[in-house]
Amino acid sequence: MKIKPQVVTRFAPSPTGLFHAGTYRTAVFAYLFARHHEGTFILRIEDTDRIRSKKVYEDNILETMSWLGLSYDYLHRQSEWVKEHESIIKNLVNRNQAYVSPEKGEDGVTRELVRFRNQNKVVTFTDAIRGPITMNTTDLGDFVIAKSFTEPLFHLTVVADDALTGVNHVIRGDDHISNTPRQILIYEALGATIPTYAHLPLVLAPDRSKLSKRKGARAVSEYRDLGFLPEALLNYIASLGWNTGGVEEIFSKEELVERFSLDQVQKSGAIFDEVKLRWFNREHLKKISSDRFIAEGLPFLSKRMQGILKESGQTEVILSLLRERIETYDDIRALEESGELEYLVEAPIYEAEKLKWKQDPDLAVTKTHLEATLGAVSKIPEGTWTKESVREAVWSYAEAAGKGSVLWPFRFALTGKDKSPDPFEVAGILGKDETIRRIHTAISKLAHA
Ligand code: GLU
Repeated sequence: MKIKPQVVTRFAPSPTGLFHAGTYRTAVFAYLFARHHEGTFILRIEDTDRIRSKKVYEDNILETMSWLGLSYDYLHRQSEWVKEHESIIKNLVNRNQAYVSPEKGEDGVTRELVRFRNQNKVVTFTDAIRGPITMNTTDLGDFVIAKSFTEPLFHLTVVADDALTGVNHVIRGDDHISNTPRQILIYEALGATIPTYAHLPLVLAPDRSKLSKRKGARAVSEYRDLGFLPEALLNYIASLGWNTGGVEEIFSKEELVERFSLDQVQKSGAIFDEVKLRWFNREHLKKISSDRFIAEGLPFLSKRMQGILKESGQTEVILSLLRERIETYDDIRALEESGELEYLVEAPIYEAEKLKWKQDPDLAVTKTHLEATLGAVSKIPEGTWTKESVREAVWSYAEAAGKGSVLWPFRFALTGKDKSPDPFEVAGILGKDETIRRIHTAISKLAHA
């Protein structure tokens, strides 16, 4: 039996800001790759830059990882490994692969920099996404790997920590390609095994410029506050530059893990488009249980509206009606703010003229249709009042007399709005008594118009 070496990979963010989907795409791909291969996924906080690294950003990374469902097997902070880094630097110096170089900085202070002794080699590696890459390291000179024995710099810490934790797959953005030769040289000097590299193409904004916060790209955590579902974000982020080759796009986390492969990662930049993300969210919203929808969606309504719904016993019915009309939970808030929900809890106020279908000659026609509608729905027995039974009661009359002509006044009488769900839907929610009351009101308005 041949035992496959276990995959060990990592996500190594620097806690220096709030990250957009482009950065988390690296986390998602590394996570899916590790889980697909039943390997190990490490989260490494690269906080050696003491000035720029902030606890709030680290907290945000941990929260976002957990919200997206990206569980890791191991978490460590680079700053906790000063001793290990120091001994690696000393080791390199002792073996003459690096040397201490006293140099005066811009501030006039002389520091004992540690420089790597570059042998000016040609470095070749095979990138899992880009194929073979060859780079001449002559121009790099003897590069600095530490500002002192206890102040290691980026290239040294990345290699040291990857080697110390057995990382054998480095999946990261292709802005790191130019760093790779230096890091390979350090691996060789340490006698450590060079990992497989997979450099992911950039994530771009819809205008094909680099996705950036300055240009309005949101932090992933902001989508949580805006009422997006984590599974929609995960699914959409996973689709940035990767696809299964099939037409299906909506996948659960388990399905993504099962299907993920680095072979299908595209070489060209992927576009992050919020419109598409909203579509993913809508598709995932359709899939969640009604209990979850209510629990998560309700807080987006005002306390007042929540109270009114609770009192009417209609919370579930009304929220399920909203589910069909929204892309994110925040749309529930927007619907309420635009006054769209008022008619569900309070009889609308409007002018009689508005009841008239635009193609009808006068209000007399409108009144006749409303009277016919009233007659038809009054016959529905109380216990069988549903949107379907209301539709059935009115439909053949509406078809014969003209749908717009009959259904517009019916809907307007119930909602007082130019736009709303159809009258059957609304009547189903309002119930028989309230529906009849509102049609009556409309008829008497017309009688006095
Ligand atoms: N800390 C680096 C970054 O934030 C990642 C280094 C790496 O993945 O090797 O881009």
